This record gives sequence, C-alpha cells and structure tokens, in this order.
Amino acid sequence: MATPTAILAKSFDVEKVRADFPILATKSHGHPLVYLDNGATTQKPQAVIDAEVRYYETQNANIHRGVYELSQAATMAYEAARHAVAQFINAREDAEVIFTRGTTEGINLVAAGFGRSVLKQGDEIIVTAMEHHSNIVPWQLACEVSGAVLKVIPITDAGELRMDEYAKLLSTRTKMVAVTHLSNALGTINDVEKITAMAHQHGAAVLIDGAQWVAHHETDVQAIGCDFYVFSSHKLYGPTGQGVLYGKRQWLEKLPPYQGGGDMIETVTFLKTTYAPLPNKFEAGTPNIAGAIGLAAAIDYVQSLGLADVAKYEKDLVDYAVQKLAAIDGLRIIGMARNRGSVVSFVVENPPIASLDLGMALDRQGVALRTGHHCCMPLMNRMNIPSTTRASFAVYNTRAEVDELAEVLRKIISDHRRSVSISPAQAMSPALAKPQAAIQFPTAAGMSPDIVADELAEVFEFLGDKDAKGEQMLDFAKQLPHNFDLLKKLTERVPGCQAQVYMITRPSPNAPDRLEFVADADAEIVRGEIYMLQQLFSGQTAKDILAFDTNAFFHRIGLEHFLTAQRRNGLGSMIERIRTHAKKL
Ligand code: PMP
Repeated sequence: MATPTAILAKSFDVEKVRADFPILATKSHGHPLVYLDNGATTQKPQAVIDAEVRYYETQNANIHRGVYELSQAATMAYEAARHAVAQFINAREDAEVIFTRGTTEGINLVAAGFGRSVLKQGDEIIVTAMEHHSNIVPWQLACEVSGAVLKVIPITDAGELRMDEYAKLLSTRTKMVAVTHLSNALGTINDVEKITAMAHQHGAAVLIDGAQWVAHHETDVQAIGCDFYVFSSHKLYGPTGQGVLYGKRQWLEKLPPYQGGGDMIETVTFLKTTYAPLPNKFEAGTPNIAGAIGLAAAIDYVQSLGLADVAKYEKDLVDYAVQKLAAIDGLRIIGMARNRGSVVSFVVENPPIASLDLGMALDRQGVALRTGHHCCMPLMNRMNIPSTTRASFAVYNTRAEVDELAEVLRKIISDHRRSVSISPAQAMSPALAKPQAAIQFPTAAGMSPDIVADELAEVFEFLGDKDAKGEQMLDFAKQLPHNFDLLKKLTERVPGCQAQVYMITRPSPNAPDRLEFVADADAEIVRGEIYMLQQLFSGQTAKDILAFDTNAFFHRIGLEHFLTAQRRNGLGSMIERIRTHAKKL
C-alpha cells in the first residue's frame, strides 16, 4: 500500500516546481542553495519574471490617463490584476481590493484612517503578543493621535493565543482587533474566523495580517468575515513593492484617504476636493503597475499548482522538519502550536550558540535562513529569548533540504560541543565562560587609531575571500575576554544589534580626554568586531576617535558588508555608541 507521502508525491511533483524557479539552481558559498527564508520573501518563478518583462517590453504606459492604445492596454492589465486578486481571496467586488506597497503599507493605511476618523479617547485596539512590528507600531501611532489604548492578547508557552483572555479584553470600547493569520516567528495559525466573530459581537472591526498565509493556504475573506485583510506580493512568489489591502466596501467608504495626489480625486479646487470612488480613493499617484501585473502572474502560478495541494505538501514537509529538528540534541523549538504553518523557529541551548553565529555557520554551508527577532521583539521578550533561528518553507522546498539543514545543524552543534569541552575559556557562548572578577578596560598602548588600523589591515590583506575574513573575526573573538554576564547585569543592551551587545564606556582615569570601553556580545562574530573596535578606539582621545573614518576602514579590509548589513550585526550601532560617548568627553 502506498504511504500518504507517496500518494501526495504523485499529485505534486516538487522537482517540476523547482525547475520553475531559476534561482534554485544557483549556488551559495559553493554549495547548492538551500533557501529556507521564505517567510522573509519567496523566490520568483519564471512566469512572474516573464510577466514583468513582457509588460515593460510591450505594454508600458501610465494607467487611467491616456486615451491611446498602449495606456489602455496597461490600464486593462492593471485592472485585470485587481480582478485576479479579488477572485483569489474571494472579495465581493474588485473595488474592495486596494493595491499597496505591501502588508506594512496596508496596515498603516487602515491604522491612519482609524486614528484620524474612527478612534476616540479611551477606545481600545486589540493586538496579540505574537504580532509583527508592522501590526503593532501603526496602531501605536493611531493611539498617539486619538488617545486610544492598545491591549494585547497573551499567548501560551506553546505559542497559542489565550482565547479566554481575548474574550475578557473585548468590550464596547474595542474598536479594532488586529491579528496575524499565521505567525512569522512561531508558525502558529490563529483561528481568524472565531476571532472575527467574537470581535463583531462587540461591534469591533477586524484586520487580519495575511503576510505569511496567502502563499500557503487558500484564502476566503468572506468566510473569515474580517473587515480588512492585508498581504504582500513578494511573499506570494510575486514582485516586491506590491501588496494588497482588502477592505469591506462600507469601511473603505468610511475611512479618509491615506495619501492625496493624482488619480485619487474627483474634482479639485483650492476650496474643496472631492475624492474618486473606490478603489482609486486609496491609490494616489502612479502605482506599481508592473508589480500588480507580476502579482497577478504569481496568483496564476500558485493557482495552477492548486493551493489545496500546496497546503498538503507543505504540511507534510513542516511536520517532517519539526520531527527532524526536535530530534537534535541541544535544540529547542520555539512555538509548538497544534495548528502550525510552514515556519519552524528554534534556539540551540546546549551548548548555547547565538542565533547569529548559527545563521552565519549555516550560510557558509549554503543554507539560507533567518536569525534574529523577526520583527517581533515583544514576542521574543514573552518567550524569554533574544532571538531565534527560523526555517520557513515554501512549495519548492524538499525533505532532502530538511535533511541537509538537520545534518549541518548537528555538525555545527557537535563541533561546538567539542570545542567547549576542550576549552571552556574559548567557549562560543559567553555564558559558559566565567566573567573576569574585575573588568579590565583596554588602553591605547601608545598607538593612534591610524597605526592600529594599518596593523589590522595587514592581517586582512593576505586573507582571500569573505569566508576567510569571517574566520579571522572568529579568531579575534577568542582574544576578547568574556564579560557578557557581568556587563548584562551592569548596563542596558546596545539597541539596534541583532545579537545581544552590552558596552560600558568611561573617561580614562588618568587622561579624561580619552575614552575607554569594554563590551561583549552573545555572538562570536560580534565579539570579533568588538575586539577590533577595542583595538582601534579604547583608550584613544575623543579627537582621534571622531577623526577616524570607520567606514573607510571597513572598506579597506574588505568587511564593508558588516557595516551595510547593519540590522544583522549592529556594528554600526556600536560605532555610533562609541562616537556619541567620545563627543561627551
Ligand atoms: N506581517 C507579517 C506576519 C510578516 O511576516 C511580515 C514580513 N516579515 C510583515 C507583516 C511585513 O511585510 P512587508 O515587509 O512585506 O510589508
């Protein structure tokens, strides 16, 4: 008898799907690319790439304006895209589909409208503890302008919504409930039908963040019953810079325009302007025409695969991934909701490895996935962790890729375990090493930052590629004393860093115009950066620190990507902190 997977494999040929995505045939660090960062963005099938190219090659003109054939063709293609979206999510009419830049803009549009014309002092907005920042911050802005208050539905340790607590939060003061359909950091699928029905009983509107849902399951906004539904094209195999806000007509009629400009007006005089009917009222200016057309091609593509089959295939894959990862000694999965989508987050705790180090080690083996707080800082606080490593799957991922991920992880962990047992003092995790009894502030040893920079540059000059330079950073990290636990007790975290970074600065006791500092981080790569920064700056005069061109230096040694990828490692934040404190001397 055939196994369920074998039956599935017959209706769903993943190798055929993979062949539709040109990027999947490329390599990363010399290894076949294993792309597991689909929660951040999905890859694009040839059909989507071709649709955009075809538009620019044969149809490009501005829409809704020209009387000539080309403009009308572009307008028709753009409006056909709106129709395709309306059908895709089962909207009642095309005019309920507003094109936006993405999920973020869709939420901002609704939140700004609520802030301006719906919310009053003392009204309440409910979000959940697992929301993406883009479903938190726009509501905070709306609260600021209106005097409304944000309430948060708590979650269980498994990462499920506390529906009992939600019921208690609802009242006549509740004006909006904004909830993610599928958590980008935990994988939890929320019962949006029930959440919506409960909110409606109290007269509150409901916005569902479908960013992580639409590419993986069928969507029916009427069945959900929500008032607003938002998503991004780029997580649905479509182009970036394009998104969708679905809104019920009565709400879209009621809300004020988000932006003013061309195409959103009926008549304009200096005394009074009237607005265009839906959907144009919310689409000021020339939109992303190619993006809408690309999105329609992406919808066409997923529909040709059949979203019901896609959902089944991915469910099998993610169950397999959970099983494989949970079996790895030292690894803990964060988020064990009973109803899970194609996202698996985890931390490595025994021995502890910072997710940034883990992500970089996986990257060197060609495995691309996301580490950090996933734009869910409140959620990380709730789970008592600074960050996770997240594998997020799409329709083209395979069990073989899950095996590869698990194998590379096992190797990283066992190598690390060996290094820890040989030399605890050089442990990757500062938590394992004893902090020094008294913190030593490094001094300048009589060399200016320029001379130190020359010496460091010499070290890097003979190293080949980025990988070799990264290894050098890890060697530097070994020379940095472990002060993490102590600093963590003494000071606040340096904001803006993906790793946890703590830094203490002081004027040099013997020379108050000189700045000394100690810092430490939970990620080895950041410790390597700290080592270099200390060599360059600790004990130097404020004048020398401020005169030194750090940007040029990191370019010179071929590590400029450490600076530009600022969100990833916070090198820029540390430099900023050092400069700010130098200025205060
Ligand atoms: N909400 C969720 C749940 C997400 O995963 C994301 C993207 N990570 C967003 C909102 C924001 O989407 P975008 O950046 O495309 O606007």
